[in-house]
Amino acid sequence: MQKRKFWGWGYQDQVLSNEEDAAIESRIAAHFSLDEVPSLPIPLAEDINLPTPRVKIPQTLEKVLSKNHLERLNHTYGKSFPDLARAMLKQFPHPPDLVAFPNDQEDVVNLLDWADQNNIAVIPYGGGSSVCGGVETYVGDDYSGVISLDLRNLDQVLEIDKESRAARIQAGIFGPALEDELRKSDLTLRHFPQSFEHSTLGGWIATRSGGHFATLYTHIDDFVESTTMVTPTGVIESRRLPGSGAGPSPDRMVIGSEGILGVITEAWMRLQNRPIFRSSGSVEFDDYQKALNATRLISQSGLYPANCRLLDANEALFNGAGDGSKHLLILSFESADHELGTWLDRALEIASSAGGSYEKPQEKEPEAHRTGASGTWRNSFIRAPFNRDAAVRRGIIWDTFETSITWDHGFEFIESLKEKTRKAIHEISGREPNVTCRLTHTYPDGCAPYFSYTAYATPSTMLDVWKQIKTATNEMVVAEGGTITHHHAVGRDHRVKGYDVQIPSGFKDMLTAAKSSVDPRSIMNPGVLIDSGKGKIGHWMEN
Ligand SMILES: Cc1cc2nc3c(=O)[nH]c(=O)nc-3n(C[C@H](O)[C@H](O)[C@H](O)COP(=O)(O)OP(=O)(O)OC[C@H]3O[C@@H](n4cnc5c(N)ncnc54)[C@H](O)[C@@H]3O)c2cc1C
Repeated sequence: MQKRKFWGWGYQDQVLSNEEDAAIESRIAAHFSLDEVPSLPIPLAEDINLPTPRVKIPQTLEKVLSKNHLERLNHTYGKSFPDLARAMLKQFPHPPDLVAFPNDQEDVVNLLDWADQNNIAVIPYGGGSSVCGGVETYVGDDYSGVISLDLRNLDQVLEIDKESRAARIQAGIFGPALEDELRKSDLTLRHFPQSFEHSTLGGWIATRSGGHFATLYTHIDDFVESTTMVTPTGVIESRRLPGSGAGPSPDRMVIGSEGILGVITEAWMRLQNRPIFRSSGSVEFDDYQKALNATRLISQSGLYPANCRLLDANEALFNGAGDGSKHLLILSFESADHELGTWLDRALEIASSAGGSYEKPQEKEPEAHRTGASGTWRNSFIRAPFNRDAAVRRGIIWDTFETSITWDHGFEFIESLKEKTRKAIHEISGREPNVTCRLTHTYPDGCAPYFSYTAYATPSTMLDVWKQIKTATNEMVVAEGGTITHHHAVGRDHRVKGYDVQIPSGFKDMLTAAKSSVDPRSIMNPGVLIDSGKGKIGHWMEN
């Protein structure tokens, strides 16, 4: 089995070449006018001491629990900026005592029984790609121990119903393995988050993830037909139906529950035929407001492009898809059933009458999404997490935050957030940051702006600087009327001045009551979404 990096993105053999690493360093030096850029060495697992596990492995669970050093390192954090920064700095004060690798649902039931009886906190773990502290194993002092429960052995497509185009799939399957299996039946889930390679179906459902298609089916929610979840008090399985009006949906409670209610073990998922027709193009704008308006008109036209990504001029420049003078709208269409040239032509016509310009002929081949401006942007998108590792080593904060907003005040919201973020980062870090925006998803009634920034810090200040920036952006996003997250989930990091403010208090009471009914001793992912039944565990961002 390929080993994943405990300090960065991807597998241990997926590293930047020396040239790529040097290119990132020169970019940092140029942007912040630095003569020298200090760089931390890549940490070695054997150089890191971990506290001795507080929990003894019971004989009955010997086959599924591990105290392996590398596994404990790998399961201490997810993949957010501070996760990688702490790993790079060799800070592992609160690793899981043990890591569990159940082989089937019965193992999950037995693990939760044992943890519940012994006051051991359980952190469900899919691919560990959380960027909001969702899999972190710090749970305070009220537990006798903590385990990370990794679903990777529940990795099978169990059944395919071709007629209804749906499949029963185990929660621990990773994106590529899932698509490989579905391809054999000419089907696809067609859910591709940027973290696709290193995240799992269960993680997507637990976090309400967003795939990279921009309209129509974007969130995993749209594909869930039914779910099975093991809670400390029993198994909850919903009925498999194409739609139902029978009261509040049980699946709605499971989707987005981020591991605080139980462990999702499998789900029936709606599938699609594999697209074979593709068509794509891009439109340039001098004026951002016009570009946003064009995006709105296309989103409301009923054309439903697969990609409808508006990059502001800086975002285009940063990703090598422009010279920084024009805003770029990337459009693409795909279908398993019909040619899409007419759809693209109509979208381009809308964009052009709203003030955009484009060059003909557009690409209309099956591989069109891999060429031209779309292709350049796509390649940059895939490399981004590896580039971020190189920035972390140098203490440079290369991070993102995302939200959504209705069209009626979309423009003011985006402009204001960009400016306030720039100012806040300048004040906190003392240097001018780079702040860019793209729309990742668009809806008939609004859009999901995704902000990226590069901020100056050094290896010794990066955690403190990041914490201040994160608190500021959490607060601004919610104060300006957006949501604390469109698809990155809440975890622990988005609670501070964010979700804690946004969540309606009556709903928080309902969620707390729901948790205490299925998890009365509050062992499931304490501190995520809401306070655990054992009270506030304290978050490192607040200290
Ligand atoms: C480089 C990068 C790019 C990303 N791109 C995207 C993107 O495009 N779209 C997007 O939506 N997100 C993205 N993310 C965030 C992350 O990949 C998603 O939140 C993803 O859905 C997490 O899946 P996972 O399997 O890695 O879950 P994990 O990170 O392991 O867990 C996430 C949360 O779900 C819980 N959980 C996991 N599995 C289960 C289960 N079986 N039962 C109950 N709870 C469970 C965990 O306890 C935790 O709270 C990105 C992250 C990175 C680092």
